[in-house]
Amino acid sequence: MAILFKNGKVIIGNGEVIHRGTVVVDGKKIVFVGSAKRAPSSKKDTILDISGKTILPGLIDAHVHLCVDGSPDPITSLLRDSIPQITLKTVNHARQTLEAGVTTVRDMGGKDYIDIAIRDGIESGIIQGPRMLCSGKLVCMTGGHGWQFGREANGTDEVRAAVREQLRAGADLIKLMATGGVMTKGVEPGATQFTLEELIAGVEEARKAGRRTATHAQGTEGIKNALRAGINSIEHSFFLDDEAIELLLEMKAFVVPTLCAPYHIIKAGVQKGVPAYAVEKSKKVIKSHWESIKRAHKAGVPIAMGTDAGTPFNRHGENLKEMELLVRIGFKPMEAIVATTKTASEVLGLEKKIGTLEKGKLADLIVVDGDPLMDISLLQKKEKILAIMKEGYFYKNQL
Ligand SMILES: [Zn+2]
Repeated sequence: MAILFKNGKVIIGNGEVIHRGTVVVDGKKIVFVGSAKRAPSSKKDTILDISGKTILPGLIDAHVHLCVDGSPDPITSLLRDSIPQITLKTVNHARQTLEAGVTTVRDMGGKDYIDIAIRDGIESGIIQGPRMLCSGKLVCMTGGHGWQFGREANGTDEVRAAVREQLRAGADLIKLMATGGVMTKGVEPGATQFTLEELIAGVEEARKAGRRTATHAQGTEGIKNALRAGINSIEHSFFLDDEAIELLLEMKAFVVPTLCAPYHIIKAGVQKGVPAYAVEKSKKVIKSHWESIKRAHKAGVPIAMGTDAGTPFNRHGENLKEMELLVRIGFKPMEAIVATTKTASEVLGLEKKIGTLEKGKLADLIVVDGDPLMDISLLQKKEKILAIMKEGYFYKNQL
């Protein structure tokens, strides 16, 4: 018994649109995408008329922290809360993310492997949430950005050991910290942290195990170090110069902008409880951040949507604000959608399974009332998302 989504606007995820198309799902997979006339159907099938509506691939957020609660000072909460408290919050964040239409996330730094337990809980059906790829603990230098919940390591041997620990714990990818950042007191976003040699060691250990690597990298030198080490994705990218952009293209690396992170910190400000150091640092970087992403996009660097959800006021379930910000800096709505579907699936290495509505892929999809190409902010309105399906299972169906 198949499910036919009929007569809707089909956004494939690769930039193409079928204006009156049909998507057929059978079991966990998509078995047909095309014009209604050619769609296979039998009397037993469930037919859902979606005329006037849009069907898209399940959306992907390539940078979240499900363990981090999006409160005004989330690092303090993370240090204060007990492990059971953080775990309960994380369960909630996972559900909120899925309810927003985000069917896959890449978790970029958890606490004490709660992220990995949540991933496995979702996979086995104990709790509801998006499909997750997890980095386990981020790997940083002593006192470096994220040390409060990361694994500190110094020198190449220790970096190798730290990476091996994450692999043993079940990490899907490895996150290495190449520069300072906004949310750690006393470190500067522009400053390099891991050395080139440490980054090379970390990347090599991950590669040996067939895993990808991502780096938190904001300053120019740190970004270049990470690229020279062979990193797969640069997270944040506040300060890109021409050479960094050339290196990104040469190394075929991705950028995950996380425009939401500094945006929400500045918008809320100290008056809403965000630590002053975070507000000050965000104000210093935001202009260059937006400019860098614009330039990378223009140069043809693949850009995947990622929010850094969990940072102050960057709440889980409000992930799709990032698409609006991408449009604000000059992406066409379709480009913002491709960043959140096909390109995001590529940065995760899951492009053969998800990311586009194509025959043979897993049936991750959403149906939206209206057309997000006309108004990208439509995707932020939960009541407009009429259906959410992950691997052929409806988590929401108001069709
Ligand atoms: Zn992050």
